[in-house]
Amino acid sequence: MKPVIALVGRPNVGKSTLFNRMTKSRDAIVADFAGLTRDRHYGDGRLGNREFIVIDTGGFEPDSSTGIVKEMAKQTRQAVAEADAVVFVVDVRTGLSGQDQDIARYLRQANKRTFLAVNKAEGMSDSPLLAEFHELGMGEPHPISAAHGQGIRSLLEAVLEPF
Ligand code: GDP
Ligand code: MG
Repeated sequence: MKPVIALVGRPNVGKSTLFNRMTKSRDAIVADFAGLTRDRHYGDGRLGNREFIVIDTGGFEPDSSTGIVKEMAKQTRQAVAEADAVVFVVDVRTGLSGQDQDIARYLRQANKRTFLAVNKAEGMSDSPLLAEFHELGMGEPHPISAAHGQGIRSLLEAVLEPF
């Protein structure tokens, strides 16, 4: 069985960009139609000769319809339940937010192996801005740039280490 990695985080942190990077696909996400496919997206990834499955979770713009927001939360919970590991994505440019704290609280009780990916950190691997993310209690932050393809191999090596 291939290990399953779920990408979780608030909207706009770069989950879909990371998904595309991990699956090397460019068009997996663009086929979304508002309100129809706000669900999980599965993709195949590979690190060397190790294969894995990655799930991108919702994370579209907040919608005025609470029904859709609720459905997105449900899809995220299902993705976490299915996953062998979770990559919790945050955004170093906006910094730590209350929503990140809420997601961290949720992930702690979900009791999955979780890795903290601090995205949009191109050229920032030693930045003091990374330090505040320690307070999420999710271990050592992994600085990455999904858009520029930085730090992703080292993140994946940590995630896939037991597999
Ligand atoms: P999602 O809502 O979490 O799926 O986020 P998206 O993948 O749709 O990305 C949200 C925005 O962040 C887009 O404008 C991306 O181009 C941008 N973005 C994603 N990754 C990076 C990154 O590594 N660096 C920078 N500077 N921007 C990024
Ligand atoms: Mg997305």
